[in-house]
Amino acid sequence: MDYLRQFPEIEQETIKCMKCGNCQAVCPLYQETKSEGAVARGKIKLTEEVLEGKLEYTQRLAKIFETCLQCKACAVACPCGVEPDKIVLAARAKLAQERGLPSIKKLIFKVLSSPALFKTGLAVGARTQGLFFKQREDGQSTRIPISGIVLRRVIPKLAKTSFLNMVPENNNVPDARMTVAFFSGCTTNFAYPNVGTSIIEIMKQNKINVIVPKAQHCCGLPVLMHGDVATATEMAKSHVDIFSKYQVDAIITVCGTCGESFQTNYPELLKDDPEYSEKAQMLAKKTYDFAQFLVDVAVLDKSKLGPIDATVTYHVPCHIGRSMKAAQQQLEIIKSIPGIKFKPLKDPDRCCGGAGSFSLTHYDLSYDILKHKLDDIKSTGADYVITGCGSCRMQLNDGISQEKMPQKVLHTAELLAQAYQNA
Ligand code: SF4
Ligand code: SF4
Repeated sequence: MDYLRQFPEIEQETIKCMKCGNCQAVCPLYQETKSEGAVARGKIKLTEEVLEGKLEYTQRLAKIFETCLQCKACAVACPCGVEPDKIVLAARAKLAQERGLPSIKKLIFKVLSSPALFKTGLAVGARTQGLFFKQREDGQSTRIPISGIVLRRVIPKLAKTSFLNMVPENNNVPDARMTVAFFSGCTTNFAYPNVGTSIIEIMKQNKINVIVPKAQHCCGLPVLMHGDVATATEMAKSHVDIFSKYQVDAIITVCGTCGESFQTNYPELLKDDPEYSEKAQMLAKKTYDFAQFLVDVAVLDKSKLGPIDATVTYHVPCHIGRSMKAAQQQLEIIKSIPGIKFKPLKDPDRCCGGAGSFSLTHYDLSYDILKHKLDDIKSTGADYVITGCGSCRMQLNDGISQEKMPQKVLHTAELLAQAYQNA
């Protein structure tokens, strides 16, 4: 079923819902708002009313469907196998089609879908950020409130040199046993290039060549999340063209949403396209989170890991855990490092509230959700919070900074690269 294009087919999905309310218990938004409109069951009821012609495509309806983290907790908890996150995406697509997108979103998506514009914009941003943002050791905060970035919010500094400009396209090692293509994603490319260089180091230690296709750009998920299916489809085609050129054993990612794009969204968006459908499915089968690839496919070389004397905990990014199903492999890597003392969170899978642009459009609600995670982190007494997604890292770092907590946030790849360096 093409959830994103054929809204009436969603009827088949909504029929499966028996309105049991199990999703209420797991929905982070419902837990904050106690509103039926926030939870999957309420959204499904509204979708049914739209399908029956009882509800118009109003601004109020658009706001309700905007209020979803796409965390998939409801889908996992549903005894009937409903995928409410997909119903929400389809509704957003239909609303965008019926009502048109706001001009500001059209402009942002135009920039995101144009690699040259996006890269130039962020390069200018990296040079001028000191004018608009107060610099801090752990990031920066705005001098003037702008949409979604309030005065107290701490965001990462943009890297002076992006990851894609930092490394060559071919990163070969002698006697390589495999070759991977690396999709870095925007947060690694522009904010956390150390995650990308860590991947190259880790693969080198495991005798794996890394190709970093220089033409790659935003995976398109932010665009898809706001219902702009046409632009997301063009971005999917562009990445299928770029990555199909390389003869590689795997495509690896370091962010759950980017990985989900390659594994799930591209094949779904392109499934009726005779030129792209098969190629998208081939790429999907080859795509792994880096930890999944190292543990399940390449067999991680643990013999060269040096010690790290630290207490760490791990936050499971929703799309790493529930979509890519790579959380166990990330944990296996963390726990295999000598010297690491691992303190689990009570609720490691609970969404941190970041959810990509949700934290821009609904900052206060997003922060309320984050507070539960911060309390959980505090109770572990860990020195480091490890996670596998740049967007979660930004969210966690914001809360940790504002609450003056001592923890540092690191990506799993950075921790592993450090262990190799310590050998
Ligand atoms: S979406 Fe699933 S869990 Fe939620 S009310 Fe419907 S059947 Fe129950
Ligand atoms: S995807 Fe997450 S936020 Fe959205 S309805 Fe389901 S549980 Fe709630």
